[in-house]
Amino acid sequence: MSVDCTYFKPAGVPTRSLEEVVLAIDELEAMRLVDVNGLYHDKAAEQMGVSRRTFGRILDTARKKVARVLVEGMALRIEGGHIEIVKQRTFACSECRHIWNLPFGTGRPKSCPACDSKRFRREVTT
Ligand SMILES: [Zn+2]
Repeated sequence: MSVDCTYFKPAGVPTRSLEEVVLAIDELEAMRLVDVNGLYHDKAAEQMGVSRRTFGRILDTARKKVARVLVEGMALRIEGGHIEIVKQRTFACSECRHIWNLPFGTGRPKSCPACDSKRFRREVTT
């Protein structure tokens, strides 16, 4: 994901007099997946490669930050906004022990690329 807009502030207020809230890129991504794309939490968590619990925490933090920015008229900066995020998911085959990586957003692989077995699982690295 790349982000073009990385700084938001209330119009007509000088930046130096604004308090700034920093939104991490994964927090923005969590909001994008759920609030913009309408994904369920479990699907969104899978796409981001985190547990549902972790995802819920990220989303909760993100929403609280954005709500505060709007309600209290603060500036919002997105951290790491110019960085193209290329996260990998790791899968491990239970048959041949082959381990391979796939970027997010490409869906779950159908079978192990080495032995074609369907008995593989996601390695959780977080
Ligand atoms: Zn295999």
